[in-house]
Amino acid sequence: MSNAQQWLVCFDTDRIKQYLFATNRLKEIRGGSALIAQLDDERKSYLEQRYSRDKVVYSAGGGAAVLVSTEQEAQALIAEIEREFRAQTVTASITGVYLQASTTSGKFGVEMTRAGKALRRAKAAKAELIRLPVEPYMRFCSSCGQHPAAYQAQDGSGDWLCRACHKKREKGGEERGGFFAQFAQWADSQTWTGKTIPDDLDAIGSVASPPGYVGFIALDGNHIGDLLDKPATIEAYRAFSNGLWSLTREQTFAALKQYGKPLDGIAPFEIVLIGGDDVLLITAADIALEIALAIAEGFEKQSLTQVLSPAGLSGEREKLTMAGGVVLAHADFPIPAMYRLAESLQKSAKRLCAEQKYQTGAIDFQVVTSSDTDLDAMRQGVPHRRPYTLEDLRKLLGHIRLLKAADIPTSQLQAMYQALFEGEVNAQLASIATLGYLGRSTDKTRYNRLKQFFKDFGVQFDGQLPPWDASKRSALTDLVELYPFIKS
Ligand SMILES: [Zn+2]
Repeated sequence: MSNAQQWLVCFDTDRIKQYLFATNRLKEIRGGSALIAQLDDERKSYLEQRYSRDKVVYSAGGGAAVLVSTEQEAQALIAEIEREFRAQTVTASITGVYLQASTTSGKFGVEMTRAGKALRRAKAAKAELIRLPVEPYMRFCSSCGQHPAAYQAQDGSGDWLCRACHKKREKGGEERGGFFAQFAQWADSQTWTGKTIPDDLDAIGSVASPPGYVGFIALDGNHIGDLLDKPATIEAYRAFSNGLWSLTREQTFAALKQYGKPLDGIAPFEIVLIGGDDVLLITAADIALEIALAIAEGFEKQSLTQVLSPAGLSGEREKLTMAGGVVLAHADFPIPAMYRLAESLQKSAKRLCAEQKYQTGAIDFQVVTSSDTDLDAMRQGVPHRRPYTLEDLRKLLGHIRLLKAADIPTSQLQAMYQALFEGEVNAQLASIATLGYLGRSTDKTRYNRLKQFFKDFGVQFDGQLPPWDASKRSALTDLVELYPFIKS
């Protein structure tokens, strides 16, 4: 009997980030994240055992695709996976769809794209149905405020929690499991142990410089979706999916290993999520930009050999790139607000990547100094040069280090910075005055370094004065705002 026509079943977790960020407590976010990762692992081994490895197209990052032989089997599997997922997470859900697919046409990616479209339709339909009615006299969960409280927490807090948050908090209190454990195992070192896991955001902030500040990083691969219909066979598709997954994970782990050594016994980071090409991290503020850059650079550099070539897609693209958003904020700024802000920054970086025809990754960043939670409001009237391509951001960080090493007086930087908000001419006068002041010193190091910074960011000096480039933008704002967060 021909095996060419089979039933392709695809799953994807719904609104995974809303589920994770329904709370402001790091331990519950960690618990939710560990639960999602655990369900991912269990689903993978279950599918591989039940249908054999060669029928599982992929299973990772909250999703899966598997080939089964009958329509009844497809329906039964979807019902089972959806039921089990809801039972474990209480408020999160996973959606499954199935369709008849040919595995020998040499266009397997097209079948996967068809399934992906069906999956998106099914998820959209479901999203309209998930408003749960709640009786008005019920007590609400003191963590998420969204669902009726069902348990009193046994951790001494006295909090009344809904079933979902209760489960997250229990899970978050365990030391095993989740991405941290995977990282510690990967790093193969005694440096990161259960004891170094930060208790909350304040703990991460306590080992940061300046103290109390954390970074929230969101990274995502650029227009990966357009490649999904390209792999010719199941094997090629699997190579693509596995390659993407392990590349993202390895680059994230490598960056954390390099920059995330424990200080005072506290690991200065939390891995919230690593999906297929998707990363969410919280770190000490002073390592956030280095980590985001290292991941995005490594991803871009290794994408051809680790993802595109193994999947037979080297003819499609030379490389894959990433866009990222980095928020630097005080540890008491709400985590869900950091997440939303990081997503806005990531979108802004993605627009630059698109302008650059995806030949480079980009990162946008924002230092939060007010209680505003909206990016447009924060940037109102602020002249800046963001977002940055990876190369330009690397350059900017280099200039900050050189200026710090030369001990340029922060009062000089502040004077130029203030003038940026006082109109084009005042800004020029202040920059020229500072250059003049530094130029009168016998040691010209500071003068030369500041001048080189302006030159590297588009200031020509032939009639066109700093701090403005030809399009009247200035990297000076970005330099001064980042200055306290970069180690010399
Ligand atoms: Zn809750």
